[in-house]
Amino acid sequence: MKNEIVLFENKEQCCGCGACVSVCPKKAISMQEDSCGFKYPRIDDALCVGCGACKKVCFYQNEAECNHPMKGYVAVNTNKKQVNGSASGGVFAAVAEKVLKAGGKVYGAAYSFDKQVTVNTIGIDRLEDLPKLQGSKYVQSNTENVFEDVKKAVLEGKKILFSGTPCQVAALNKFLGRKYENLLTVDIVCHGVPNQRFFNDYLDTLKNDSDDISEFNFRDKNRGWEDYFIAYSVGSEYKDIHCRVSSYYEEFLKGYINRENCYSCKFASLERPADLTIGDYWGIAKQHPELFKEDKWFERKYTGISCLLVNTEKGERSIEECTEQLELVPSTVDKIAAGNGQLRGPTHRSEKREYIFELYKSKGYVAVENDFQKSLTLSYRIKDSLKCMIPLKLKMKIKRVKHR
Ligand SMILES: Cc1cc2nc3c(=O)[nH]c(=O)nc-3n(C[C@H](O)[C@H](O)[C@H](O)COP(=O)(O)OP(=O)(O)OC[C@H]3O[C@@H](n4cnc5c(N)ncnc54)[C@H](O)[C@@H]3O)c2cc1C
Ligand code: SF4
Ligand code: SF4
Ligand code: SF4
Repeated sequence: MKNEIVLFENKEQCCGCGACVSVCPKKAISMQEDSCGFKYPRIDDALCVGCGACKKVCFYQNEAECNHPMKGYVAVNTNKKQVNGSASGGVFAAVAEKVLKAGGKVYGAAYSFDKQVTVNTIGIDRLEDLPKLQGSKYVQSNTENVFEDVKKAVLEGKKILFSGTPCQVAALNKFLGRKYENLLTVDIVCHGVPNQRFFNDYLDTLKNDSDDISEFNFRDKNRGWEDYFIAYSVGSEYKDIHCRVSSYYEEFLKGYINRENCYSCKFASLERPADLTIGDYWGIAKQHPELFKEDKWFERKYTGISCLLVNTEKGERSIEECTEQLELVPSTVDKIAAGNGQLRGPTHRSEKREYIFELYKSKGYVAVENDFQKSLTLSYRIKDSLKCMIPLKLKMKIKRVKHR
């Protein structure tokens, strides 16, 4: 009699990485959406032979190998164009450029624009494609077929960089089953992911009747780094929205719309599955006040500053190769964690999550949007509009005077 396989007992035990789908020799597993749009693996009993490979490959229910950071840095890419296209200080682009110039391949999350805007993890081997992987996409990226592709590329002997959320990196590590010297991994500090369907339903509220969205950026920097703005194009119109008046963005930043397992994420800590960890250096002014005596660092508070954790010796070697393009200031792991809650514990699960998803399931995203708009007070809207009206250069001048 064949073993009966239960992939997970509750939703806290599955991050949706899809490694089980990739490993199944009988193609018996497929990812299916639940009623809120989050994807979970489902086994077709008629195809399953009970071999157990899917259970074995699941890092979430087995041990995931992690490292405690050896070093921490304040980090900024000296290529200003790359910084502008990145969420924080552009560390990812500097490391990725080095790999691509050495003839390697880089994997990361990219938008694809068709009728819908979707986020997929893809592999690139041309430097001109690097901007596709830059910038934060605050929605779960689809890793279908990616782990097999990475394995193939690694076995060809090419230099490979795989980047993604810590759970995606841990899933790849487990899928590969051993370490490869030519594979470098980068994980991001991560506070959780919403899902693709919910994101697309939000985007529908931004579209007009005849045009689709052709550009989208969650971290547009025209108004600075620390204030989050979405920028997007619909037809010939280019618009931006402050995070506090965007239903999806505000609910994402508050942690109301994450995948269930993100609220107990084991990677919301200083134990990291990748060789390098990158994030925003929140609290930089408090942790490194000495930097802001220099104009260049003052300006960087508006263009973006990253924190970088070096977790392995391989990670350290890869950073040494990038020192021409990366400006690094030694920091400490404790200073970096002090300003970044996600390195100290997972996002709190608020009762608002239930409320929002109940509304979504019963009445659709329009009801979520209307409910959010109703919650915005007039004074809030006025304050927000005023904030949006001040040009960045003026904002910088005022802050510089105050600073001195
Ligand atoms: C869902 C999510 C939550 C985050 N939460 C935090 C946080 O709480 N605190 C914090 O300091 N930083 C957080 N970040 C990371 C931060 O936004 C920047 O990505 C990070 O500072 C790196 O910036 P960069 O300028 O070096 O590179 P960027 O060019 O901005 O980053 C590109 C990298 O991000 C990866 N990436 C982008 N979107 C996704 C995605 N959807 N799934 C997987 N990988 C993705 C790309 O593969 C690439 O490796 C989060 C990012 C994401 C995607
Ligand atoms: S391998 Fe990934 S998708 Fe499959 S059950 Fe485990 S966590 Fe979920
Ligand atoms: S037990 Fe084997 S055949 Fe069945 S779903 Fe898992 S990997 Fe596929
Ligand atoms: S919070 Fe944890 S489980 Fe959720 S996407 Fe990020 S790394 Fe994965």
